[in-house]
Amino acid sequence: MTRALVLNCGSSSVKYRLFDGAGTVAKGLIERIGESGGDAADHRAALQRIMSDTDLDGLAAVGHRVVHGGPEFTSATVIDDAVTSRIEALIPLAPLHNPAALSGIEVARKLLPDVPQVAVFDTAFHATIPPAGVTWAIDASLASRWQIRRYGFHGTSHAYVSRRTASLLGRPVADTNVITLHLGNGASACAVQGGQSVATSMGMSPQGGLVMGTRSGEIDPTVVFHLHRVAGMPIEEIERSLTRQAGLLGLTGENDLRAVLRRRAEGEPVAKLAFDVYTRRIREYVGAYLAVLGRVDAIAFTAGVGENSPDVRGESLSGLEALGIAVDPARNAAGDTFISPDGSPVAVCVVPTDEELEIANQSRAALGL
Ligand code: ADP
Repeated sequence: MTRALVLNCGSSSVKYRLFDGAGTVAKGLIERIGESGGDAADHRAALQRIMSDTDLDGLAAVGHRVVHGGPEFTSATVIDDAVTSRIEALIPLAPLHNPAALSGIEVARKLLPDVPQVAVFDTAFHATIPPAGVTWAIDASLASRWQIRRYGFHGTSHAYVSRRTASLLGRPVADTNVITLHLGNGASACAVQGGQSVATSMGMSPQGGLVMGTRSGEIDPTVVFHLHRVAGMPIEEIERSLTRQAGLLGLTGENDLRAVLRRRAEGEPVAKLAFDVYTRRIREYVGAYLAVLGRVDAIAFTAGVGENSPDVRGESLSGLEALGIAVDPARNAAGDTFISPDGSPVAVCVVPTDEELEIANQSRAALGL
């Protein structure tokens, strides 16, 4: 089997996993890069450490997770100098995310010059959303000049989970419609029709859509104008507030849903409201995507919250029986793969995601391995 190394470089961390086929040979996390007492001084030192700690004999591919592929990268792409320049040109679209991936790519290409490298974009799976689903009704000349549109993220996860769901149902992917709910620190919903993304909740950045750990999700843009004009906040401060101090953190002071659930169980009204806002937003998107898809075979929950919280799964889909959607309390509490009652028109399932395996597989496929 061919070996593939998957690298997920963030601004202060590098996650890695080495695959032999679908099996994991080694994995790890280098954290607090560049901080005093951190695991490594910079990305170069981090990657050097991974390579000395890991037996890379027979390595056939390196797959890099890249958050933003802009309008042009619509599938996993073998990296050369032209590709890195094009990813660099997308930095204004993803100033927080793409620079770290680029530095990981640069160092890995230097340290492993003979191993082909592939960029796998979080946005690429959503390239199939039709124009009406990615266009916002703003001045078209501004949108076109500044590349303003919905791109969507978590694509590797939505791709993996929707395919896996079809396989659990024993149905061909091409004939299966799924709503995937990726609920982690970041959270997004996706409508997948016959294996292709046709709608997703995140927008130009991962800020849009569902309520997240520290991000607001969807808000009226006037909130930004108001905070600037009336509250006198500088634009950077507003951005920080809406991306790092909003979501569950903004509502309750804690971004970890487990803490919110504990406080809700103790009867704290603030925690109850946060839970209701969080789950209601999910239900609103499920309703929207039922309408987008027309026919839904399954709804799949994934990522930290989706895989682990029966409360969120149950409440997000409550009251939808007339639409063919129901959750069996005992199956839900047990975390079964199928949590809907037998014979339900829409299957509801819990499907653990594996973004790294998907990146490894897409990287090998891009290289014809
Ligand atoms: P990331 O988006 O960083 O990959 P994860 O998918 O690991 O995050 O999800 C992390 C979140 O999952 C945590 O913030 C936590 O709120 C939530 N989570 C993890 N386990 C549970 C659980 N047992 N019950 C509820 N929420 C959980």
